[in-house]
Amino acid sequence: MTLLAIENITVKYGPIPAIRDVSLRIGEGETLAVVGANGAGKSTLTLAITGIVRPASGRIEFSGRSLLGLGPEATARLGVALVPEGRHIFEGLTVDENLLLGTTVLADRSSARHAMAQSYEMFPILHERRNGMATRLSGGEQQQLAIARALLSKPRLLILDEPSLGLSPVMVDKIYAILSELKSLGTTLLLIEQNPARIDEVADRVIVLSSGAVQASGLAAEILADEQLHASYLGGV
Ligand code: ATP
Repeated sequence: MTLLAIENITVKYGPIPAIRDVSLRIGEGETLAVVGANGAGKSTLTLAITGIVRPASGRIEFSGRSLLGLGPEATARLGVALVPEGRHIFEGLTVDENLLLGTTVLADRSSARHAMAQSYEMFPILHERRNGMATRLSGGEQQQLAIARALLSKPRLLILDEPSLGLSPVMVDKIYAILSELKSLGTTLLLIEQNPARIDEVADRVIVLSSGAVQASGLAAEILADEQLHASYLGGV
């Protein structure tokens, strides 16, 4: 069943479109990766889905319901969670307090407590560091915190904007292991990456974005094996 359906969306910040006529679909339990160079429009796509920017035209439907005009809070309440580029943890708060903020959408304190316990089980390093300031975590640990916080709202779709950006190879391994685990648990993922090196580990399908438009889309194995695409749109990576 299709969870997210985007049809021909165009987003403009001024007169020039940042993305134009972009269409995509994500089925329940599927992992779709969107790859593309700097400025391709990847972040703009995530902002449009999460209701932070409004497309000038096109349709965005989540579980059959239009997301257009809902705004970020209502979109989040429907089950769309974003781990933004740069992670955006709350400075001045501990790891535990950062996580608690992710539980505010849950109905009551006992489900919040249960969700926190599950979260610490999945991210043992966060449990170990729970009373320390979040800013003291390494980049990879902060990324885990951002993912853990997004998961606490029990999203039906988790969007990750460049989760491996700027991380050490060991931490990239860790993040991809987490993504694989989420996938095996049936989580629907929209993974945005500039560097396509690792996405074959989790992606079912891949969309290549360049200059705000979809240049290619297909099964991950096919797209990632296409040397022409790599050379033209992915910086030969
Ligand atoms: P990056 O990997 O650098 O984040 P990206 O693929 O996510 O790139 P976007 O950030 O979506 O790309 O940017 C797409 C285009 O829109 C770029 O040309 C960018 O300069 C422009 N753009 C992005 N945000 C704004 C904004 N707030 N105001 C004006 N133009 C913007």
